[in-house]
Amino acid sequence: MKYKNVTVAGSGVLGYQIAFQSAFHGFNVTVYDINDDILEKAKTKFQTLSEAFKVDLNATQEQLDQAYKNLTYTSDLKESVKNADLLIEAVPESPEIKIDFYQKLAQVAPAKTIFATNSSTLLPSQLADATGRPTQFVALHFANNIWTHNTAEIMGHPTTDPKVFEEVVEFGKAIGMLTLPLNKEQPGYILNSLLVPLLSAGLDLLIKEVATPETIDKTWMKATGAPIGPFAILDTVGITTAYNINQLSAAKTKDPLKIKTVEYLKENFIDKNKLGVSTGEGFYRYPNPAYLEPDFLK
Ligand code: NAD
Repeated sequence: MKYKNVTVAGSGVLGYQIAFQSAFHGFNVTVYDINDDILEKAKTKFQTLSEAFKVDLNATQEQLDQAYKNLTYTSDLKESVKNADLLIEAVPESPEIKIDFYQKLAQVAPAKTIFATNSSTLLPSQLADATGRPTQFVALHFANNIWTHNTAEIMGHPTTDPKVFEEVVEFGKAIGMLTLPLNKEQPGYILNSLLVPLLSAGLDLLIKEVATPETIDKTWMKATGAPIGPFAILDTVGITTAYNINQLSAAKTKDPLKIKTVEYLKENFIDKNKLGVSTGEGFYRYPNPAYLEPDFLK
Protein backbone atom coordinates (compact mmCIF):
# COMPACT_ATOMS: atom_id res chain seq x y z
CA MET A 1 0.00 0.00 0.00
CA LYS A 2 1.47 3.29 -1.16
CA TYR A 3 -0.33 5.46 1.39
CA LYS A 4 0.72 5.70 5.03
CA ASN A 5 -0.50 9.09 6.17
CA VAL A 6 -4.15 9.94 5.89
CA THR A 7 -5.90 13.18 6.81
CA VAL A 8 -9.63 13.22 7.42
CA ALA A 9 -11.22 16.66 7.12
CA GLY A 10 -14.46 17.00 9.11
CA SER A 11 -15.06 14.91 12.23
CA GLY A 12 -18.87 14.78 12.03
CA VAL A 13 -21.11 11.72 11.62
CA LEU A 14 -19.03 10.14 8.86
CA GLY A 15 -15.64 11.79 9.31
CA TYR A 16 -14.88 10.43 12.75
CA GLN A 17 -15.90 6.93 11.63
CA ILE A 18 -13.59 7.11 8.59
CA ALA A 19 -10.74 8.39 10.78
CA PHE A 20 -11.12 5.64 13.36
CA GLN A 21 -11.56 2.90 10.77
CA SER A 22 -8.33 4.02 9.05
CA ALA A 23 -6.40 4.30 12.33
CA PHE A 24 -7.66 0.88 13.38
CA HIS A 25 -6.19 -0.55 10.19
CA GLY A 26 -2.77 0.90 10.89
CA PHE A 27 -2.71 4.22 9.02
CA ASN A 28 -1.35 7.40 10.61
CA VAL A 29 -4.45 9.54 10.71
CA THR A 30 -4.70 13.26 11.26
CA VAL A 31 -8.17 14.52 12.10
CA TYR A 32 -8.85 18.07 10.96
CA ASP A 33 -11.88 20.18 11.90
CA ILE A 34 -12.64 23.88 12.16
CA ASN A 35 -11.89 24.27 15.87
CA ASP A 36 -10.42 22.49 18.87
CA ASP A 37 -13.76 22.15 20.73
CA ILE A 38 -15.13 20.04 17.90
CA LEU A 39 -11.96 17.95 17.90
CA GLU A 40 -12.38 17.36 21.63
CA LYS A 41 -15.90 16.07 20.93
CA ALA A 42 -14.47 13.75 18.29
CA LYS A 43 -12.14 12.23 20.89
CA THR A 44 -15.14 11.39 23.09
CA LYS A 45 -16.95 9.87 20.12
CA PHE A 46 -13.95 7.61 19.46
CA GLN A 47 -14.47 6.12 22.94
CA THR A 48 -18.08 5.20 22.11
CA LEU A 49 -17.03 3.89 18.74
CA SER A 50 -14.40 1.61 20.25
CA GLU A 51 -17.14 -0.07 22.29
CA ALA A 52 -18.95 -0.81 19.02
CA PHE A 53 -15.70 -2.17 17.53
CA LYS A 54 -15.42 -4.53 20.53
CA VAL A 55 -18.99 -5.79 20.23
CA ASP A 56 -19.30 -5.96 16.45
CA LEU A 57 -15.73 -6.82 15.40
CA ASN A 58 -14.31 -8.48 18.52
CA ALA A 59 -11.63 -5.80 18.55
CA THR A 60 -9.14 -6.24 21.40
CA GLN A 61 -8.14 -3.47 23.81
CA GLU A 62 -4.62 -3.71 22.41
CA GLN A 63 -5.85 -3.07 18.86
CA LEU A 64 -7.97 -0.16 20.04
CA ASP A 65 -5.09 1.35 22.03
CA GLN A 66 -2.95 1.15 18.90
CA ALA A 67 -5.73 2.86 16.89
CA TYR A 68 -5.73 5.74 19.42
CA LYS A 69 -1.97 6.05 19.08
CA ASN A 70 -2.37 6.35 15.31
CA LEU A 71 -4.66 9.40 15.66
CA THR A 72 -3.56 13.02 15.87
CA TYR A 73 -5.72 16.14 15.83
CA THR A 74 -5.35 19.66 14.55
CA SER A 75 -7.49 22.61 13.56
CA ASP A 76 -4.66 24.02 11.40
CA LEU A 77 -5.34 23.01 7.81
CA LYS A 78 -1.75 23.36 6.59
CA GLU A 79 -0.41 21.37 9.53
CA SER A 80 -3.07 18.68 9.00
CA VAL A 81 -1.93 17.84 5.46
CA LYS A 82 1.81 18.46 5.67
CA ASN A 83 2.61 14.71 5.34
CA ALA A 84 -0.66 13.47 3.83
CA ASP A 85 -0.63 10.85 1.09
CA LEU A 86 -4.42 10.94 1.04
CA LEU A 87 -6.92 13.50 2.28
CA ILE A 88 -10.49 12.32 2.77
CA GLU A 89 -12.95 15.18 2.87
CA ALA A 90 -16.09 14.75 4.98
CA VAL A 91 -17.13 18.38 5.48
CA PRO A 92 -20.84 19.36 5.31
CA GLU A 93 -22.84 18.52 2.21
CA SER A 94 -22.91 22.05 0.80
CA PRO A 95 -21.29 22.97 -2.52
CA GLU A 96 -20.21 26.37 -1.13
CA ILE A 97 -18.52 24.89 1.94
CA LYS A 98 -16.82 22.15 -0.06
CA ILE A 99 -15.57 24.47 -2.82
CA ASP A 100 -14.23 26.93 -0.27
CA PHE A 101 -12.57 24.07 1.60
CA TYR A 102 -10.84 22.71 -1.53
CA GLN A 103 -9.66 26.15 -2.62
CA LYS A 104 -7.97 26.65 0.76
CA LEU A 105 -6.65 23.10 0.80
CA ALA A 106 -5.15 23.48 -2.68
CA GLN A 107 -2.94 26.29 -1.40
CA VAL A 108 -1.42 24.34 1.48
CA ALA A 109 -1.38 20.64 0.51
CA PRO A 110 1.85 19.05 -0.79
CA ALA A 111 1.84 18.10 -4.48
CA LYS A 112 1.76 14.38 -3.68
CA THR A 113 -1.52 14.46 -1.72
CA ILE A 114 -4.49 12.72 -3.30
CA PHE A 115 -7.89 14.20 -2.45
CA ALA A 116 -11.05 12.11 -2.01
CA THR A 117 -14.54 13.39 -1.28
CA ASN A 118 -17.11 11.45 0.72
CA SER A 119 -19.94 13.58 -0.72
CA SER A 120 -23.22 11.70 -1.09
CA THR A 121 -24.92 13.94 -3.62
CA LEU A 122 -22.28 16.03 -5.39
CA LEU A 123 -20.37 14.68 -8.36
CA PRO A 124 -16.56 14.89 -8.26
CA SER A 125 -16.62 16.88 -11.52
CA GLN A 126 -18.50 19.63 -9.64
CA LEU A 127 -15.58 20.01 -7.24
CA ALA A 128 -12.61 19.03 -9.42
CA ASP A 129 -11.63 22.57 -10.48
CA ALA A 130 -11.58 23.82 -6.91
CA THR A 131 -9.08 21.13 -5.91
CA GLY A 132 -6.44 22.56 -8.26
CA ARG A 133 -5.40 18.94 -8.99
CA PRO A 134 -8.31 17.32 -10.83
CA THR A 135 -6.28 14.26 -11.90
CA GLN A 136 -5.59 13.49 -8.24
CA PHE A 137 -9.21 13.76 -7.17
CA VAL A 138 -11.82 11.05 -6.76
CA ALA A 139 -14.95 10.29 -4.75
CA LEU A 140 -14.64 7.70 -1.98
CA HIS A 141 -18.08 7.18 -0.53
CA PHE A 142 -18.69 5.30 2.69
CA ALA A 143 -21.94 4.25 4.32
CA ASN A 144 -22.98 5.24 7.83
CA ASN A 145 -21.77 2.69 10.43
CA ILE A 146 -18.68 2.11 8.32
CA TRP A 147 -17.27 -0.65 10.57
CA THR A 148 -20.22 -2.98 9.86
CA HIS A 149 -21.72 -1.47 6.69
CA ASN A 150 -18.26 -1.58 5.19
CA THR A 151 -18.86 -0.51 1.60
CA ALA A 152 -16.67 1.98 -0.25
CA GLU A 153 -17.92 3.24 -3.60
CA ILE A 154 -15.06 4.73 -5.62
CA MET A 155 -16.05 7.08 -8.42
CA GLY A 156 -13.75 9.16 -10.59
CA HIS A 157 -14.60 12.04 -12.90
CA PRO A 158 -13.53 12.27 -16.54
CA THR A 159 -9.97 13.42 -15.82
CA THR A 160 -9.18 11.37 -12.72
CA ASP A 161 -5.87 9.55 -13.27
CA PRO A 162 -6.67 5.79 -13.49
CA LYS A 163 -3.59 5.10 -11.35
CA VAL A 164 -4.94 7.34 -8.59
CA PHE A 165 -8.31 5.60 -8.86
CA GLU A 166 -6.63 2.20 -8.38
CA GLU A 167 -4.60 3.44 -5.42
CA VAL A 168 -7.77 4.64 -3.71
CA VAL A 169 -9.42 1.27 -4.36
CA GLU A 170 -6.37 -0.38 -2.73
CA PHE A 171 -6.67 1.98 0.23
CA GLY A 172 -10.35 1.05 0.62
CA LYS A 173 -9.38 -2.62 0.79
CA ALA A 174 -6.59 -1.86 3.26
CA ILE A 175 -9.10 -0.37 5.72
CA GLY A 176 -11.42 -3.36 5.51
CA MET A 177 -13.94 -2.13 2.96
CA LEU A 178 -15.77 -4.04 0.30
CA THR A 179 -14.62 -1.80 -2.56
CA LEU A 180 -17.14 -0.98 -5.27
CA PRO A 181 -15.54 0.78 -8.24
CA LEU A 182 -17.82 2.76 -10.58
CA ASN A 183 -16.72 3.04 -14.20
CA LYS A 184 -18.26 6.48 -14.67
CA GLU A 185 -19.89 9.31 -12.78
CA GLN A 186 -23.36 8.58 -11.52
CA PRO A 187 -25.43 10.82 -9.21
CA GLY A 188 -26.21 8.75 -6.09
CA TYR A 189 -23.48 6.23 -6.91
CA ILE A 190 -24.74 2.62 -7.09
CA LEU A 191 -26.32 2.36 -3.64
CA ASN A 192 -28.53 5.42 -3.72
CA SER A 193 -29.41 4.86 -7.38
CA LEU A 194 -31.01 1.64 -6.17
CA LEU A 195 -32.17 2.64 -2.72
CA VAL A 196 -33.81 6.02 -3.26
CA PRO A 197 -36.28 4.70 -5.92
CA LEU A 198 -37.12 1.69 -3.72
CA LEU A 199 -37.88 3.85 -0.68
CA SER A 200 -39.78 6.30 -2.80
CA ALA A 201 -41.90 3.53 -4.36
CA GLY A 202 -42.70 2.19 -0.88
CA LEU A 203 -43.83 5.63 0.27
CA ASP A 204 -45.90 6.11 -2.92
CA LEU A 205 -47.78 2.88 -2.20
CA LEU A 206 -48.45 4.02 1.36
CA ILE A 207 -49.60 7.53 0.42
CA LYS A 208 -51.87 6.14 -2.29
CA GLU A 209 -53.32 3.90 0.46
CA VAL A 210 -52.55 0.75 -1.53
CA ALA A 211 -51.18 -1.13 1.49
CA THR A 212 -49.77 -0.69 5.00
CA PRO A 213 -46.02 -0.36 5.68
CA GLU A 214 -46.00 -3.85 7.19
CA THR A 215 -47.67 -5.45 4.15
CA ILE A 216 -45.30 -3.63 1.80
CA ASP A 217 -42.25 -4.75 3.81
CA LYS A 218 -43.54 -8.33 4.02
CA THR A 219 -43.98 -8.41 0.25
CA TRP A 220 -40.44 -7.22 -0.37
CA MET A 221 -38.90 -9.50 2.24
CA LYS A 222 -40.66 -12.72 1.34
CA ALA A 223 -40.63 -12.34 -2.42
CA THR A 224 -36.98 -11.28 -2.76
CA GLY A 225 -35.41 -12.82 0.33
CA ALA A 226 -34.28 -9.40 1.56
CA PRO A 227 -33.77 -9.24 5.35
CA ILE A 228 -35.80 -6.02 5.74
CA GLY A 229 -38.22 -3.97 3.66
CA PRO A 230 -38.35 -0.31 2.59
CA PHE A 231 -40.06 0.97 5.75
CA ALA A 232 -37.58 -0.77 8.03
CA ILE A 233 -34.83 0.78 5.91
CA LEU A 234 -36.47 4.22 6.25
CA ASP A 235 -36.39 3.80 10.04
CA THR A 236 -32.69 2.90 9.91
CA VAL A 237 -31.65 5.69 7.55
CA GLY A 238 -33.75 8.12 9.58
CA ILE A 239 -37.07 9.63 8.58
CA THR A 240 -35.55 13.13 8.59
CA THR A 241 -33.42 12.19 5.59
CA ALA A 242 -36.45 10.81 3.73
CA TYR A 243 -38.36 13.97 4.61
CA ASN A 244 -35.57 16.19 3.29
CA ILE A 245 -35.23 14.23 0.05
CA ASN A 246 -39.00 14.32 -0.56
CA GLN A 247 -39.14 18.00 0.25
CA LEU A 248 -36.50 18.75 -2.39
CA SER A 249 -38.30 16.56 -4.90
CA ALA A 250 -41.72 18.13 -4.12
CA ALA A 251 -40.29 21.65 -4.51
CA LYS A 252 -38.71 20.72 -7.82
CA THR A 253 -41.50 18.67 -9.41
CA LYS A 254 -44.64 20.07 -7.69
CA ASP A 255 -45.88 16.47 -7.91
CA PRO A 256 -49.07 16.26 -5.74
CA LEU A 257 -48.07 12.79 -4.51
CA LYS A 258 -44.68 14.07 -3.29
CA ILE A 259 -46.34 17.08 -1.64
CA LYS A 260 -48.71 14.70 0.16
CA THR A 261 -45.74 12.53 1.20
CA VAL A 262 -43.98 15.54 2.72
CA GLU A 263 -47.12 16.53 4.66
CA TYR A 264 -47.66 12.96 5.81
CA LEU A 265 -44.08 12.55 7.06
CA LYS A 266 -44.16 15.93 8.81
CA GLU A 267 -47.46 15.36 10.58
CA ASN A 268 -47.00 11.75 11.59
CA PHE A 269 -43.26 11.53 12.20
CA ILE A 270 -41.23 14.76 12.22
CA ASP A 271 -43.62 16.74 14.47
CA LYS A 272 -43.96 13.75 16.82
CA ASN A 273 -40.19 13.15 16.99
CA LYS A 274 -40.70 9.66 15.62
CA LEU A 275 -37.56 9.72 13.53
CA GLY A 276 -36.85 6.01 13.28
CA VAL A 277 -34.41 3.77 15.15
CA SER A 278 -32.55 6.77 16.63
CA THR A 279 -35.61 7.95 18.62
CA GLY A 280 -37.05 4.50 19.35
CA GLU A 281 -39.99 4.81 16.99
CA GLY A 282 -40.65 5.37 13.30
CA PHE A 283 -42.75 3.07 11.18
CA TYR A 284 -41.86 0.41 13.78
CA ARG A 285 -41.09 0.47 17.51
CA TYR A 286 -37.56 -0.27 18.73
CA PRO A 287 -35.61 -2.11 20.08
CA ASN A 288 -37.93 -4.97 19.12
CA PRO A 289 -39.52 -4.05 15.77
CA ALA A 290 -42.28 -6.31 14.41
CA TYR A 291 -40.23 -7.22 11.33
CA LEU A 292 -37.70 -9.03 13.53
CA GLU A 293 -40.37 -11.20 15.16
CA PRO A 294 -40.13 -14.84 14.07
CA ASP A 295 -43.72 -14.96 12.78
CA PHE A 296 -43.62 -11.68 10.81
CA LEU A 297 -43.58 -13.57 7.52
CA LYS A 298 -45.97 -16.34 8.53
P1 NAD B 1 -21.66 16.42 9.68
O1 NAD B 1 -22.38 17.70 9.57
O2 NAD B 1 -22.01 15.44 10.73
O3 NAD B 1 -20.08 16.74 9.87
C1 NAD B 1 -19.40 17.70 9.15
C2 NAD B 1 -18.13 18.08 9.91
O4 NAD B 1 -17.38 18.98 9.12
C3 NAD B 1 -18.38 18.78 11.24
O5 NAD B 1 -17.56 18.21 12.24
C4 NAD B 1 -18.00 20.24 10.96
O6 NAD B 1 -17.47 20.90 12.12
C5 NAD B 1 -16.93 20.05 9.93
N1 NAD B 1 -16.71 21.21 9.09
C6 NAD B 1 -17.55 22.21 8.74
N2 NAD B 1 -16.94 23.08 7.92
C7 NAD B 1 -15.69 22.61 7.74
C8 NAD B 1 -14.58 23.07 7.01
N3 NAD B 1 -14.62 24.15 6.28
N4 NAD B 1 -13.45 22.32 7.08
C9 NAD B 1 -13.38 21.20 7.82
N5 NAD B 1 -14.41 20.72 8.52
C10 NAD B 1 -15.55 21.42 8.47
O7 NAD B 1 -21.72 15.76 8.23
P2 NAD B 1 -21.64 14.20 7.82
O8 NAD B 1 -22.95 13.58 7.94
O9 NAD B 1 -20.46 13.60 8.49
O10 NAD B 1 -21.36 14.37 6.28
C11 NAD B 1 -20.07 14.72 5.79
C12 NAD B 1 -19.98 14.26 4.36
O11 NAD B 1 -20.16 12.85 4.31
C13 NAD B 1 -21.04 14.86 3.44
O12 NAD B 1 -20.46 15.13 2.19
C14 NAD B 1 -22.07 13.76 3.34
O13 NAD B 1 -22.76 13.77 2.10
C15 NAD B 1 -21.20 12.53 3.42
N6 NAD B 1 -21.89 11.31 3.86
C16 NAD B 1 -22.71 11.32 4.96
C17 NAD B 1 -23.37 10.14 5.35
C18 NAD B 1 -24.27 10.11 6.57
O14 NAD B 1 -24.96 9.09 6.75
N7 NAD B 1 -24.26 11.11 7.42
C19 NAD B 1 -23.17 8.97 4.61
C20 NAD B 1 -22.29 8.98 3.52
C21 NAD B 1 -21.66 10.17 3.15
